[in-house]
Amino acid sequence: MSLLHSCPACGGRALVPVWRVPSVPVHSCLMVESRAEALAFPRGRLEIVFCDECGFLFNAAFDPALERYSPAYEETQAFSPRFLRFLSELCEDQAKKYDLRDRLVLEIGCGKGEFLLALAERTGCRGIGIDPGFRPERLSAPALGRLTFVRDLYGPHWRALAPDYLACRHTLEHIGPVGEFVRTIRETLAERSDTVVMFELPDLRRILREAAFWDIYYEHASYFTAGSLARLFRRARFAVHALFRCYDDQYLVLEARPASAPTAPSLAIEDDLEETRALVFAFRSAVEAKLAALRAHIAAWQAKKKTIAIWGSGSKAVSLLTLLGLGAEIAAVVDINPHKWGRFLAGTGYRVCGPDELVVIRPDVVLVMNPIYLEEIDQALAARGLVPELVPMR
Ligand SMILES: [Zn+2]
Repeated sequence: MSLLHSCPACGGRALVPVWRVPSVPVHSCLMVESRAEALAFPRGRLEIVFCDECGFLFNAAFDPALERYSPAYEETQAFSPRFLRFLSELCEDQAKKYDLRDRLVLEIGCGKGEFLLALAERTGCRGIGIDPGFRPERLSAPALGRLTFVRDLYGPHWRALAPDYLACRHTLEHIGPVGEFVRTIRETLAERSDTVVMFELPDLRRILREAAFWDIYYEHASYFTAGSLARLFRRARFAVHALFRCYDDQYLVLEARPASAPTAPSLAIEDDLEETRALVFAFRSAVEAKLAALRAHIAAWQAKKKTIAIWGSGSKAVSLLTLLGLGAEIAAVVDINPHKWGRFLAGTGYRVCGPDELVVIRPDVVLVMNPIYLEEIDQALAARGLVPELVPMR
């Protein structure tokens, strides 16, 4: 796979190398059934580069041919009460802004369908969800009768749908040719100038500010700040009318409507190119310092014979385990999603266990991959009579 030499968002050629990892598993949420299969999982490389023209960050070595999205993909966070509260707040926010009763909502990359179902229950909309990893048996609710789910990837063949509202959550970052993707969506909307598009995705600003290298992994080919995201939509003939951070500033939400021509910046949050340049410049040395500190912590815990567990078996954990080259140092990788229990993490070969197994493992230290879940993790441990030291990754 050759490297990309132009920016997939703006076509610019002023690309700056930022971060490089020669070998990482190509998936981190795909569950496999045996350790051998996990260890033999296909690998790719990260060649993270920054476009100095539009502020977009991407993996120039991303090869979509290596990706295998399927129903074995376990990305859902819907087993977390904190996450469900967030979904409900997001539906509430959208319901206040847009009258969606009996309107057609299209969700591209609907995952297991939790958001579309929650939106349908809250607003009375009809809906179509498209996702290669959809699992029909996971959902049940009265609003389900107004929804249709299709196992597919979105493309121009879905042009005839004519939605009133188009949602695309945590999907754009998995796509390499983001410019082409957003232009395709704009083209399928044609003259539908009232259709609202809502995109939600991780905010690169937080990753850069926190040197959160575990949030950069193969599944995510594309990384946006508020500004670079708005610039992409504006170039593709969308008028961006809302752009904000949510989920403790971890996510960005953009809302826009089709326009007849490219649009000019109008929101203060978009003006971030200088800040992004400075953060990108400082990123590599900040990550190296963080890696060194983590290695020292783990060595110190080991010297004291402490048992270490990781809470959260998603992409962040796979990324951390891969970069630190960890093996027997970690006694357990825990997840609250029961569909992951007893299965193995791609690339690293760790078996995922449920919280109940910690009663036997009795960890002294628990690394918390996403600090937003600290409170519920603390409660889950206390309910099992466990009081380990909790170390949030931030
Ligand atoms: Zn660019």
